[in-house]
Amino acid sequence: MRSVAGVAVFASLFATAAAAQRVAQSGNAPKLIVFIAVDQMRADYFERFLPQLTGGLGRLYRGGAVFTNAYQDHAITETAPGHSVMLSGRFPAHTGIVTNSLGVPDARAPLIGGGGDGASPFRFRGSVLIDWLRMNDPRSRALSVSRKDRGAILPIGRSHESAFWYATDGRFTTSTYYADTLPTWVQRFNARKIPQSYAGKAWTLLLPESSYPEPDSVPFENYRRNFVFPHVFSADPAQVAANFAAYPMMDSLTAQMALEGVSATGIGRGPQTDLLSVSFSTTDAVGHAYGPDSRELHDQIVRLDRYMGAFIDSLYKLRDSSTIAFALTADHGVQPNPDVRAMNEHVAAMRADVGAPIAAARAALRAAGATGDPLRYEEGVVLLQRQSLAGTTLKADSVLNALAASLRKVSGVGRVDFVRDLARSDTTKDYVARRWLHMLPSDFASDLVISLAPYAYFTGDIVATHGTPNDLDAHVPEIFYGPWFIAGKYTQRALVADIAPTLAAIAEVSPSEKLDGRAHTEAIRKPR
Ligand SMILES: [Zn+2]
Repeated sequence: MRSVAGVAVFASLFATAAAAQRVAQSGNAPKLIVFIAVDQMRADYFERFLPQLTGGLGRLYRGGAVFTNAYQDHAITETAPGHSVMLSGRFPAHTGIVTNSLGVPDARAPLIGGGGDGASPFRFRGSVLIDWLRMNDPRSRALSVSRKDRGAILPIGRSHESAFWYATDGRFTTSTYYADTLPTWVQRFNARKIPQSYAGKAWTLLLPESSYPEPDSVPFENYRRNFVFPHVFSADPAQVAANFAAYPMMDSLTAQMALEGVSATGIGRGPQTDLLSVSFSTTDAVGHAYGPDSRELHDQIVRLDRYMGAFIDSLYKLRDSSTIAFALTADHGVQPNPDVRAMNEHVAAMRADVGAPIAAARAALRAAGATGDPLRYEEGVVLLQRQSLAGTTLKADSVLNALAASLRKVSGVGRVDFVRDLARSDTTKDYVARRWLHMLPSDFASDLVISLAPYAYFTGDIVATHGTPNDLDAHVPEIFYGPWFIAGKYTQRALVADIAPTLAAIAEVSPSEKLDGRAHTEAIRKPR
């Protein structure tokens, strides 16, 4: 019996290896896949700003295969989990990236030259597109650039390719997971001190003021300070470098860094398929501070459109445009600033104080003899530490039932679910249950999950944010662009997890593991 099973295992391993090794037959695979993530971009921004999108965003939207009904289909809609899905084709339940704080932080992988916390993909599970490309052709390379460590790291999984992100001292750097020293071209780029050159300048409106219907002076923006144009940079170059991430020009810098990398490393020359991943982070910074309905967000999107236009034009000068495929998506959307929405729609701002019932339950458990910290709480997920109840007469089930009942009474809480019950729900209709199931790895200890009602925030959030399973946070753009794709608007439901298998299909490589997404073959041209 053992030998039969052994043969079966060997045969299936062999089949997987053979699939991965399959060399592209048609010669039509792209030489460069350019993957673009926009941090905190809602799908509706394209239609809202379309007449003014004359640059790269407009080009991809008008000329690409656009999936208008695409989702990050998981519950904690944050940057790290969202980026872990993009080129893996798998939900966070399978990539293992549950929250930002349990994303890339790694003290054992310090940054080269400092300027931020250590970071690596050590928590990331499984493979991504660049791994499948390299199994097919070991010459394939990846370059990943972002302002944020998680934006640069997670799209290339655990690979030891090149990932660079912005340090707080104005340099792009990487961590010791990837290299011991910065490449000369990165050092040269940093030596130009582009952020510092903005000292004393200002972020002003790109278009005539009449092009912006949004009010400018909204005191609820940006923590109630500096909420009117122009937004002036400090006169001190070091201060400008430290604060540069809050200004649209950060995205221009990221694009310039990516182009410099293409030139310096030679990626995209072929014959193999290389990957350039660029995650533009500033829409998140501006969207948080000023909110999705602000004049600042409007100007940020128009500026990003122009930066991306210049980026694509420059890329087409460096490489043959007919050999480049693009995909664009976002890690999450955003909900309106709660006070701005309350003002505009004459409703109360909803802020759910879940901390109070959790603190009360914790105090009651301790009074009953529980030891240590009996309740762990983060990002809507509650865990009852069973060991702290040892030596008491408390029953875990009744403790959790009572806590769930008190959490359900909190204004702004949409629902509270027992994690063990989620799998019994109708996941085609119950999107909240489905998104939590897609969120939590089976070995991630958790008892209850708290989901906010649409438009509700947790207490303490005073600017705009995201992170809920609601559609404003989950509905994102998904666009494919280039000669492999049939341009048009596709209204069927799509997942961000579909991007990796779709790109694998045009690159003629096979994913080396089971994915949650599927290839959008309906948008791919038949081989010529
Ligand atoms: Zn954010």
